[in-house]
Amino acid sequence: MKLLDPRTLPGPVWVVSPHPDDEALGCGALIAALTTLGQDVWALLVSDGAASHPGSRAFPPSRLSALRLSEWRAGLAELGVPPEHTQTLNLPDGALDRCDPAVIRPRLQAAFAGAPPRTLLLPWRRDPHPDHRACWTLLMAARPAGCRVLGYSVWLTERGTPDDWPPADEARPWAFEIGGAAARKSRAISAHASQLGLIQDDPGGFTLAEAMVARAVRGPERLFEPLESGGTAESLSRQDGAP
Ligand SMILES: [Zn+2]
Repeated sequence: MKLLDPRTLPGPVWVVSPHPDDEALGCGALIAALTTLGQDVWALLVSDGAASHPGSRAFPPSRLSALRLSEWRAGLAELGVPPEHTQTLNLPDGALDRCDPAVIRPRLQAAFAGAPPRTLLLPWRRDPHPDHRACWTLLMAARPAGCRVLGYSVWLTERGTPDDWPPADEARPWAFEIGGAAARKSRAISAHASQLGLIQDDPGGFTLAEAMVARAVRGPERLFEPLESGGTAESLSRQDGAP
């Protein structure tokens, strides 16, 4: 696996999160490295994040969504991405696979209009969460031609099957070592208090496991660049239609 040099990623770089926290867990150190280098980095939040604690009375969906948006912006600020470099789509958490790419495409293009991406960081196409996979499909249908795409992994190590990892002819694997960014990455993850035990009145609610957070902070971050990245949208949709 080759080491990723952040100086080789053309800007503007957009980091796309299906849910608040994916960016911090999956590629927080890379984001910190890019902003430290002075790269033009932007962030897009795709879902409203309202589904992590469906049984909480203290945090009904609208309050939870507002909290998670503020956590996302606080975590990004730790990584050097200011609030004015953020965009949100507010699509329904847990139901991104029911969103029509043709309907979402103009909204994505509008979100990107101020700084069209030359590099997109997305959860890997088979990162094992339905929203993460749907996010890939939505973004690949809307990305500008020639835009470089790297899929970061969030749940691949914990939940992935061997088939979820890309074979050598599908994507080029990259590793990004955490290095001196561990403290910033850790603070960015810690900003997501709602996912770390803050909400106490929903026993079925989601909580990030300590071991998962520790692995994410330890690194390395793993990214996969589809071999057709930079190719035409047509060739990509053909591959996305494959089983
Ligand atoms: Zn997620």
